[in-house]
Amino acid sequence: MSHDRPEAGDDSLVFAQEAGEPGSPERAAWTILVVDDEPDVYAATCMAMRGVEILGRPLQFLHAESSAQAYGLLRAEPDVAVILLDVVMESESAGLDLVARIRNELQLHKPRIILRTGQPGYAPEMQAIRDYDINDYRIKSELTRTRLYTVLTSALRGYQTLSAVEATRNDLEYLLKAQTELLAANTMPAFAVGLLERLAGLYGLPAHTVFCSDGRRVHEADDQRRRVVAALGRYADWSWRRLDSLGAEPEVRAIELAFSTRRTVTSPCGIAVYLPSRTGADAVAFLGADDLPATHDPRVFDMFVQNTTVAADGVRLVERLRDAAYVDGLTRLPNRSALAETIDAALKTPPDAPQRLLLIDVDQFSEINETFGDRIGDALLRGVAQRLMAQADASVRVARVANDTFAAFGPRDLLVPAEWAKRLDEPFDVEDLQIGLSASFGGVELVNDCVSGGEVIKMGYSALKRAKQTGHRSVAFYSHEVATEIKERTRLLHGLRAAFDQQRLFLMYQPQVEARSGRTVGLEALMRWRSDDGRLVPPDRFIPIAEQSGLIKDLGAWAMRSAIHRAAALRDAGHPLRMAVNVSMSQLLVPGFEIMVAEALADGGLPAELLEIEITESVAMQSPDIVLPRLAALKQLGVCVAIDDFGTGYSSLSSLEKLAPERLKIDRSFVMGLDADTGGGSLAEMIIELGRALGLKVIAEGVETPTQRQRLIELGCDELQGYLFSPPLPIESLGEWLAKHGEGFAL
Ligand code: C2E
Ligand code: CA
Ligand code: CA
Repeated sequence: MSHDRPEAGDDSLVFAQEAGEPGSPERAAWTILVVDDEPDVYAATCMAMRGVEILGRPLQFLHAESSAQAYGLLRAEPDVAVILLDVVMESESAGLDLVARIRNELQLHKPRIILRTGQPGYAPEMQAIRDYDINDYRIKSELTRTRLYTVLTSALRGYQTLSAVEATRNDLEYLLKAQTELLAANTMPAFAVGLLERLAGLYGLPAHTVFCSDGRRVHEADDQRRRVVAALGRYADWSWRRLDSLGAEPEVRAIELAFSTRRTVTSPCGIAVYLPSRTGADAVAFLGADDLPATHDPRVFDMFVQNTTVAADGVRLVERLRDAAYVDGLTRLPNRSALAETIDAALKTPPDAPQRLLLIDVDQFSEINETFGDRIGDALLRGVAQRLMAQADASVRVARVANDTFAAFGPRDLLVPAEWAKRLDEPFDVEDLQIGLSASFGGVELVNDCVSGGEVIKMGYSALKRAKQTGHRSVAFYSHEVATEIKERTRLLHGLRAAFDQQRLFLMYQPQVEARSGRTVGLEALMRWRSDDGRLVPPDRFIPIAEQSGLIKDLGAWAMRSAIHRAAALRDAGHPLRMAVNVSMSQLLVPGFEIMVAEALADGGLPAELLEIEITESVAMQSPDIVLPRLAALKQLGVCVAIDDFGTGYSSLSSLEKLAPERLKIDRSFVMGLDADTGGGSLAEMIIELGRALGLKVIAEGVETPTQRQRLIELGCDELQGYLFSPPLPIESLGEWLAKHGEGFAL
């Protein structure tokens, strides 16, 4: 046996024995029971064997004078190695009867039995010798000192072999069971705990154990340093700590030595079992024990190591698969599936504190990504992940659920949106750039009627969607109203898409008249949707949905073409009227919008001057850099521009000048105020004056009463539109109306 010495100055550490000797040199005596009703025989046997050692161990004799006494003795002392048994005692068969009871009743199979008899005639049957596993049969006179020595030696050798086999069989059974149990674990920590318990079990010691694994590098963000994966007993608080943070404890030195020498190390404080791995994450299991008992058959120990290595590799594989399914590769945060499971668990066993889910969505991330590129975008997301993680309480689970959407789940009091928003306020340093960002929040309170984690996350998305509709840096919480609203919207969108495909959308036309003469000069095309049940869905309801879903592009192009063709047809029928078409922001943003308009004009054969585009004031002012070039291109074609809902936005004079629209359209709300005699309507007045100052025409919408009309005429408003003249008309009645009122509207 070789005791390898570890490197310099570490003489308290010793490698585990490699050869097959028992570790403890303590030499217990062999126990030999002499069963004989003649006390002399016992005395003679003791005398003959005095001072003799067999197989390196002394002998110790016990005496029983009867079968009954022998039986009682064996019951109390199962470690008897050899029984020297007189065949004939109380009766002729007393000896053999006792053998039967030893083997069958006491279930003692290891003790070797040597039968002795006074006379040759009493030899037992061969059958009995086989059945009762009797080692030898001797006539007492035959057993001289030398003879006895030989017989005992062979019996003891048999006993020793049987003991070893039994121990090994027990160990093997233990190992087999351990391996089956270990393979059931599907995470490394669970596996490690199981392994530690079994390692302690193998030595019959309480589990003061540590399992430490090399870090593995799957993702760039992985920490490769050695970690305590599991720790039990007095080492319990080492769990999940880095090995190099544990100081110079002797246990740590033993573990580190096992790693560096790739061998199992025994030290006064315990044994560090080296567990190699095929997948490259070697591990060491440490069993703390001040007094390590004799090691097992080293083959058993080897098998333990091999088995656990195979099992550990399997578990690691499973864990990696799990990891791929549950960890977001970019940020190393748990992903949506992992979050859903966490919430599932909280639903199953609700924690004491009320729980909340916050979805955290980076505002305008796609714009940032487009501007700076994917690399910066990714770094930014990692930065966000780190900051959210760093500032989260341990009881809060942070996850990444989609590209630029993060989540935090945990006690409600720790998930106040305003506080989380603040954490993102500080700009992020990414590759020499300082990028500021904001986030919107969608919250869900975890209540009993939540069905599943997946469902809760969906609720979070509903709330988030709602928040985003309000703009940036906004917060919304899930409520049933939100849910109904969202469902209703989704239903509407499906219906709208179908209606569009089935050409169930149509335009109505509302006349615009010259204020003084009452002559019809224009029409505003207004979109209508008659739903399946025959009801008209107001455009205020479906246009925003079309805008959010992108359907507005198709819808808008269709309205534009239809209106242009209609205007061309009316002109051919003797009504050269200007056609006003509403255009939303998202329509304007479609690349090639002006080309589409030009083609529609050419197609329909309508002079561009007869087309007017209505854009709302807020759209016109919101992103002048995008809107101005577009409008300039349209104006180049000769198309007119009207600023809709004027007075409700924040136009500056300079931007108005740049936009150079043909017309300002006074919002209906300011027209309403004109009914009262009390100088109300000063806003309408100001707009009319502004138009005059800038040389722009002014049209008032929503004119419902003669008083309003009168006032507007007095103020110098150029054109009027409203129910007073006509509601929006279906095409079927438009011709008739024009024939009657087109040349001048009489009240
Ligand atoms: P808007 O451009 O301000 O359209 C004027 C709205 O006022 C129309 O409602 C019209 O029917 C209504 N109206 C007209 N005269 C009166 C009146 O005397 N009193 C009252 N109370 N209301 C009057 P409508 O047709 O429901 O359209 C609502 C909004 O839907 C429009 O507001 C416009 O922003 C949008 N919209 C309608 N058609 C289209 C379209 O084809 N494309 C786009 N992008 N938006 C459209
Ligand atoms: Ca309009
Ligand atoms: Ca309007």
